[in-house]
Amino acid sequence: MENGNKERTYKITSDWHMHTEHSCDEACMKTSDLPAEQRANGITDFGVTDHLHTHLQDADIARSRKAYDEVLAAHPELRGRFHFGVEASVMSEWEADRIARGDYVGSPIYGIREGCPKNARPWIGADAGFCEKYGVEYVVTGVHWPLYVGHDAGYVVGEYFRQYLFAAAFPQTDILAHFLWWNPLVGDVEANPFFDFPAVVSEKMRGELQAALLENNVAFELNLGAVILPYPESFRDSYLGWCADLQNAGVTLSVGSDNHDLHADGRVYREAEEHFRHYGIDAGKFFCL
Ligand SMILES: [Zn+2]
Ligand SMILES: [Zn+2]
Repeated sequence: MENGNKERTYKITSDWHMHTEHSCDEACMKTSDLPAEQRANGITDFGVTDHLHTHLQDADIARSRKAYDEVLAAHPELRGRFHFGVEASVMSEWEADRIARGDYVGSPIYGIREGCPKNARPWIGADAGFCEKYGVEYVVTGVHWPLYVGHDAGYVVGEYFRQYLFAAAFPQTDILAHFLWWNPLVGDVEANPFFDFPAVVSEKMRGELQAALLENNVAFELNLGAVILPYPESFRDSYLGWCADLQNAGVTLSVGSDNHDLHADGRVYREAEEHFRHYGIDAGKFFCL
């Protein structure tokens, strides 16, 4: 300790965003492989977070929970270190109501993506009752698509921002997932308006988000697999600089690999560590359950 400043560390030892074979999408990792793989990767604290878009995924979450329980029973040394979470999407109340009524045809996975009046009221399925039912210890909330405003970049940015603020204020949200992730189902990667950060998100918006994260004690995710590593260097440069500012302002940062692959690849963490070191992002202050 010198001048009251704790020495910074850049070693990533946690991962709070990983999908398993029980996720509704293409994710394929076996929960039973995680203990050995993360031990080898130097990840000591971690959790699984399969997708909950609407309650059409409740059965997936039940399977994910069952697999988690079996692995924890086989690895008592991971008690208090291996956790069960979900990745909840911001959806619309309109579609949630239709699905609840059974008045619904369309994708069984991604809810009803057309037909709702604009400015739909947002809705998140991982409420207190859901979390209690499935033993959900923490909720990572993500924005995955605009709610019925079309895909024009000018609308999408404002619409995503509305959803980010809703997600941050949602009582069960612990971590805001992948800020500025662009869904290839929504539009081509080349059309990603968020590459134009910071210009695309005004200083006022960034300030509002920071205030919402602090007020609601919600962590901001450093999403390695979907944003930080795959996005262009020009984006990463301003984005990670801003993340360092968030951390300095008291916002907790959380690491999520967002792994959908068969195995948890340690190279992802090592590559990210080099970027965090470059921007002075202190891994010693990262989110940990
Ligand atoms: Zn996501
Ligand atoms: Zn995810």
